[in-house]
Amino acid sequence: MTDTVLDRFLRYVVIDTQSDPASDTQPSTEKQKDLGRVLVAELLALGLSDAHLDEHGNVYATIPSNTDRQVPVICFCSHMDTAPDFTGTNVKPQMVRNYQGGDITLTGDTSQVIRVASHPQLNNQIGNDIVTTDGTTLLGADDKAGVAEIMTAAAHLMANPQIKHGTIKILFTTDEEIGRGADKVDLAKLGARFAYTLDGSTVGEIENETFSADGVVIEITGVAMHPGYAKGKMENAIKAVSDIVARLPRDIAPETTEGREGFIHPVDMSGSMDSAKLQLIVRDFTEAGLKEKEDLLEKITREVMATYPDSSHTFTVKHQYRNMRQVLDRHPEIMDNLEEAVRRVGLEPVRHSIRGGTDGSRLSFMGLPCPNIYTGGHAYHSPLEWVSVQDMEKAVETIVALVKVWEERAA
Ligand SMILES: [Zn+2]
Repeated sequence: MTDTVLDRFLRYVVIDTQSDPASDTQPSTEKQKDLGRVLVAELLALGLSDAHLDEHGNVYATIPSNTDRQVPVICFCSHMDTAPDFTGTNVKPQMVRNYQGGDITLTGDTSQVIRVASHPQLNNQIGNDIVTTDGTTLLGADDKAGVAEIMTAAAHLMANPQIKHGTIKILFTTDEEIGRGADKVDLAKLGARFAYTLDGSTVGEIENETFSADGVVIEITGVAMHPGYAKGKMENAIKAVSDIVARLPRDIAPETTEGREGFIHPVDMSGSMDSAKLQLIVRDFTEAGLKEKEDLLEKITREVMATYPDSSHTFTVKHQYRNMRQVLDRHPEIMDNLEEAVRRVGLEPVRHSIRGGTDGSRLSFMGLPCPNIYTGGHAYHSPLEWVSVQDMEKAVETIVALVKVWEERAA
């Protein structure tokens, strides 16, 4: 067993850990435990003597404190599963050593090309060693880059006891890609005060914000009758629901927004003449913005339904998740210490907003405040996924710097 971050990464990505949204079990696929067992064995070999896999496939381990200072217990967390969007079976990682610029054609399927035009981050990788797929699978840098980085940082801390740190917890989860990663995490057992997920992308980018998210269900009951005798009486629910969709503002949609802009997005529609159902998701970074969009959606619904006077409808808002910044802003030291660590490894920290949810946002609201750190990976959930060795090394250095900052700043 060797212990560079690249060696670890290459060992982990060939283990198929795809999760399955159609499964009711946790983990959703037993094969996720294959990687969990490897990680436990490696953690035990490093001297993390409590490392274990639980029945849900989560891996827990502790690096004991080696300082007299009262340092809060910090956890580093990554997910072991890969996305259901693209196959993760028979991953054959390819190395582009000393990258000199230009597009990268993948060798197993030459129609798959990582083009500089659509991956401008490649411009920052000249001279670096880049890992890609062969074009037939995803790579699984999301999030095995994070796993390899945490493992390598753990090995480094265990081998260098002169680096002072508090108690550090390690957590590897399953089923993050299907939105259930935090469900079976035992926070009492974990015993951490704060956590960081290693599940971001470009080095330097740290994430303390996610969307706030609600779902909306609109159900319509129309007036059904024989179409030959319907004049002045029929109210077709299919037409009512279609009118609502047609009136959704074009400029408040996923396809027309970016950055910190929110949206209203229809995700499912079904119906017949007598009844129809429309499901939407609403996203924004602020509570006020979320409410504003829901009010607008309700107004559109009422206006449309006013033109179907004998039909009825219900409008139901379902809470999904909230921007983790609400929690993180109560503990500014979490981001302050992280920014200091990012600067110490020679990068300029950039605060970035996640246009989605994360395990970290779930954990934050479960009581474990948890922003997200870069892993160096790019083009997640696709055969064009890539990561550079040098960026993974930066992420490892960042973890080590961060535990030092927490120790130095403790009482
Ligand atoms: Zn991920």
